[in-house]
Amino acid sequence: MEMNSSNLWVFIETNEKGQAHNVGLELLNPGHSLSRAQGDEVVAIVIGQHTEAAVASAEAYGSDRIIIVEGEEYARYSTDAFAYAFHALITKYAPTSILIGATDLGRDLAPRLACRLKTGLTADCTELDFDEESGNIAWTRPAFGGNLMARILCPNHRPQIGTVRPAVFKKPEQDTSHKAEIVREEIHFSIENIRTKLIEEILDADNETIDLEGAEIIVSGGRGVGGPDGFKVIQQLADALGGTVGASRVAVDSGWISSAHQVGQTGKTVRPRIYIACGISGAIQHLAAMSSSDTIIAINTDPEAPIFKIADYGIVGDLFKVIPEFIALIDEQILTMAV
Ligand SMILES: Cc1cc2nc3c(=O)[nH]c(=O)nc-3n(C[C@H](O)[C@H](O)[C@H](O)COP(=O)(O)OP(=O)(O)OC[C@H]3O[C@@H](n4cnc5c(N)ncnc54)[C@H](O)[C@@H]3O)c2cc1C
Repeated sequence: MEMNSSNLWVFIETNEKGQAHNVGLELLNPGHSLSRAQGDEVVAIVIGQHTEAAVASAEAYGSDRIIIVEGEEYARYSTDAFAYAFHALITKYAPTSILIGATDLGRDLAPRLACRLKTGLTADCTELDFDEESGNIAWTRPAFGGNLMARILCPNHRPQIGTVRPAVFKKPEQDTSHKAEIVREEIHFSIENIRTKLIEEILDADNETIDLEGAEIIVSGGRGVGGPDGFKVIQQLADALGGTVGASRVAVDSGWISSAHQVGQTGKTVRPRIYIACGISGAIQHLAAMSSSDTIIAINTDPEAPIFKIADYGIVGDLFKVIPEFIALIDEQILTMAV
C-alpha cells in the first residue's frame, strides 16, 4: 500500500480471545464522519495473536481498510510490544488522526505513542467534531473538575491522537456484507524484550459481573439513598426490571457500594435504554456520563433538583415510598409493555 498521509485510524482493542472490545467498534462511528469530512478513509488497526474475530467485526462495522499485525508477542497486551508495533505502523503510513478507546489499555498505549511521536493527546474525550476553519479535529473533554467543557485542537503536529471512553458513541449499523481492504504487516517484537511479566491476575469480583457500559436498564442511587441499606431498595427495583445497579460518586465515596457501580466523569459512561436516577441531584459530573440514555426517569424529593432538567419523566417524592409502589406496579405487570 502506498503511503497515505490523510487517513483516520481507529484502534480496535481486542481481548485475550481475540474479540473486539465494543469501544473500538463504537469509534468507527465518529471515525466515519470525521474521515468523510476530510475526504479520507477510516482505517482499523488490529494487533493480536489471533485477530480473525476482531477483523470480521471491524469489517462489518464499516472500516474502509484494516491493517493487521499478528504474532504470539501480541497474545496479551504489553506496553513494549504494542507501542513498538503501533509506532512502526504510524511511521510507515503517517495517518492524520488516531482514535483509541479510553480503557485501561488505551490509557496506557495512547500517551506512550504521543510521547514517541512528539504530538498532542487529548484524553477522555466526550465529543468529537471537525473544525472546518482550521482543518483539525476538535476534541471536547471535561476540564476544571467537569465544570466546563474544553474544545482542544492539535494544529501543529500529526497525528492528532485522542482517547474516548466506552459508550460515549453508539456502534455504527452492522453490515456483514461490507468488505474492507485487508493489509497485513509483519512487525515483530522479541518476547524477551517485553519488560513486564504477568505474575498473577487478581480479578475484582464486582468488576467482573457489573457491565454498566453494556446495560440496557440502569437503576442508580445517590446520597438520597441514605446508606448501604438503602441500596437494597435500588437493587430490588433493578431486579424487578432486569437491570443493573449504578451509583453516584457520593454513594461510592461513602462506602455504600463499590466503585464498579459508579456512573460519571470519574466512573463509567453509560447509555442504556432506561436510566432511573434515585436520590441523585444531577451534578454535571454525573450528567456528563448518562445524559445520552434513551429515557431518563428521576425520583427526587427536591422539585428543583437539576436532574429534572434532563429527565424524560420526573417523580417528586421520597424514593423509599415511590420505589415500592413502582415495584408493586411491575409485579402487577402494568409496566411490562413499557419496559
Ligand atoms: C473532578 C470531579 C469528578 C467527579 N466525578 C463524579 C462521578 O464520576 N460521578 C458522580 O456521580 N459524581 C462525581 N462528582 C461529584 C459530583 O460533583 C456530585 O458531588 C455528586 O454527583 C453528587 O451525588 P448525589 O447526587 O448522589 O448527591 P447530592 O448532590 O447530595 O444529591 C442527593 C439528592 O438526593 C435527594 N434526596 C435526598 N433524600 C431523598 C429521598 N429520600 N428520596 C429521593 N430523593 C432524595 C436530594 O434532594 C438531592 O437532590 C465529581 C466531582 C468532581 C469535582
